[in-house]
Amino acid sequence: MSTTSESYLVGLIGEGITRSLTPPMHEAEARRHGLHYLYRPIDLEVIGRPAQDVGELLRAGRDVGFNAFNITHPCKQLVLGHLDDVAPEAAALGAVNTVVIRDGRFVGHNTDQTGFAAGLRAVLPGAAKDRVVQVGTGGAGSAVASALLAAGVGTLHLFDVDPGRATERAAALGRTFPDRTVAAATAQALPELVADADGVVNATPVGMHHHPGTPVDTEWLQARQWVADVVYLPVETQLVAAARSIGCQVLDGGHMAVGQAVDAFRLITGVEPDRDRMRAHFLELLGSQPR
Ligand code: NAD
Repeated sequence: MSTTSESYLVGLIGEGITRSLTPPMHEAEARRHGLHYLYRPIDLEVIGRPAQDVGELLRAGRDVGFNAFNITHPCKQLVLGHLDDVAPEAAALGAVNTVVIRDGRFVGHNTDQTGFAAGLRAVLPGAAKDRVVQVGTGGAGSAVASALLAAGVGTLHLFDVDPGRATERAAALGRTFPDRTVAAATAQALPELVADADGVVNATPVGMHHHPGTPVDTEWLQARQWVADVVYLPVETQLVAAARSIGCQVLDGGHMAVGQAVDAFRLITGVEPDRDRMRAHFLELLGSQPR
């Protein structure tokens, strides 16, 4: 274990995030590296501030010595207007979830995207990526779709109950990845697209404790496919459980949640975190979560 006299003050800005697992994940990992690291949730609902105040909060944080912030719903797009520099993948996505303060300057990153990509590489190495179907194209879905294309997916079909959102996302991703096929899918086409896909991804809230069910009919799945979920409350969603029982390879939503924290921790401290240890701690924290 290394020790350093440097200390870190980090915040998470977003709505309804008081019980987020990200602060304890960072703090526990920092302790294992001998770092003085304090990570506080700054819940807009608790302090009674609108999302539009994110820039003001960043500047106030910088002035009192914060090193970095994670940014979550509903500020991931709003924060862009307050940054001095943005990493290319975050700029292309138009969303930032990590702001590192260097020499008083705000530098934005998107570790939702890099974190999902890291999970995909680690858990599903060599997964076929010719054809993937993703359901859900909101905040998480945008980061995941971008990560899938950056990871080499050739044809990506996007389905959303809000068809305009899927169409708009497909068009934007098609511009960023002009050598791939990115298209919105209709509900009618979905069963056949899923059956033909190498991988199926859920980026909707369906499967959460308070939103049970599966985003696609699990009868459409086959053992040769891989299935990824972004939902991590619970980590074993109905989709993940069904896919596992069919014999599919699975990437549960915990990998993205841990992956974003791993990449943010590295950006903030320059220290390489232990992914497996953070995942184990995350699962422990989940076990003690009220539903
Ligand atoms: P969001 O509201 O921005 O997007 C959800 C999208 O799913 C919307 O476009 C909605 O129209 C669509 N949708 C909902 N039900 C659908 C259905 N049955 N079929 C097709 N489309 C449907 O939400 P978000 O912020 O993207 O969050 C989505 C989920 O991802 C939540 O459960 C959240 O907890 C989870 N999440 C996980 C991580 C992680 O690190 N693992 C990170 C962010 C969000």
